[in-house]
Amino acid sequence: TTLSAPPLGLLLEDIVRRHRPRQNAGSVPGNIPFLATVPFDRFGIAVATTSGEVFSSGDAGVPFSIQSISKVFTLAMALQGGRSAALWSRVLREPSGTSFNSLVQLEAEKGIPRNPFINAGALVVTDHLLEETPDAATQLLRFLTEQAGSHEAEPGSHAPFIDEAAADGELAGSSRNLALAHFLKDFANLTQPAAVVVENYVRQCSIMMTCVQLARAGLFLANDGQGSTGRVLSPSEAKRIGSIMLTCGMYDAAGEFAYRVGLPGKSGVGGGILVIVPGQCAICVWSPRLDAKGNSLAGTAALADLSDRTGWSVF
Ligand code: GLU
Repeated sequence: TTLSAPPLGLLLEDIVRRHRPRQNAGSVPGNIPFLATVPFDRFGIAVATTSGEVFSSGDAGVPFSIQSISKVFTLAMALQGGRSAALWSRVLREPSGTSFNSLVQLEAEKGIPRNPFINAGALVVTDHLLEETPDAATQLLRFLTEQAGSHEAEPGSHAPFIDEAAADGELAGSSRNLALAHFLKDFANLTQPAAVVVENYVRQCSIMMTCVQLARAGLFLANDGQGSTGRVLSPSEAKRIGSIMLTCGMYDAAGEFAYRVGLPGKSGVGGGILVIVPGQCAICVWSPRLDAKGNSLAGTAALADLSDRTGWSVF
């Protein structure tokens, strides 16, 4: 279904009216103090179309912590480098069915993480990037800023940035991610020191962006790998990232999300979700309170509503 401009703008306004939380339900992650300070009633949504238009409503211009949405973009960067065979020998592409920061599978599967979107797999991807650049988080920030087109951002809105204070706060509570990194190291699946990988990973998660910026930055995934300033990935690599988003993008709720929304997505514990409608658009929704699996409560409901009302689906 292709929607023309006025209906889509109005539809997004209606989505905000219906889904902006009126009470403080849901949870915030315990290991990232900054996220508990974000007001519960924030809600934004943006749609960036392959024809170059952007529609948005609610708090779509307010920067939020992208957290695990960063994992989509570090994977894209890792696949750009021409060393993808090396990466895929170190991480699988299977849904995990366990929580995003689980240690159990890593032991059972001898240090090879199930997929690049759970923490263990994302640490391997960051390690892979660190083999070529000493500051992978800053590289990622540069990539996102370029794809988001910050030069065209509305007046008053920030370019993407790393919230260093939030990163420091998370780093102080990173025992579990450090444990995962040491575990990987013990199985010889980490080349850099565990502390270096975790620090870069936490800083990449602490990038602050708006829904508008993230929708624009994710557009290459909906557009056969073609980004705002040129080709980012080949069409088949872009397709594959979409496949991994569909099967692994929502932690251990990937099946439920596919059932409710029918589109590839990646969530972060900052309450953001990036969704791809192949050939048509990238959507970013943000609302900070989470369900029991760590996905945005209102964001998931809004996307289910939006996909029902637009007919957008990969099926
Ligand atoms: N920085 C968070 C962590 O590692 C990211 C989690 C997430 O968004 O899934 O705990």
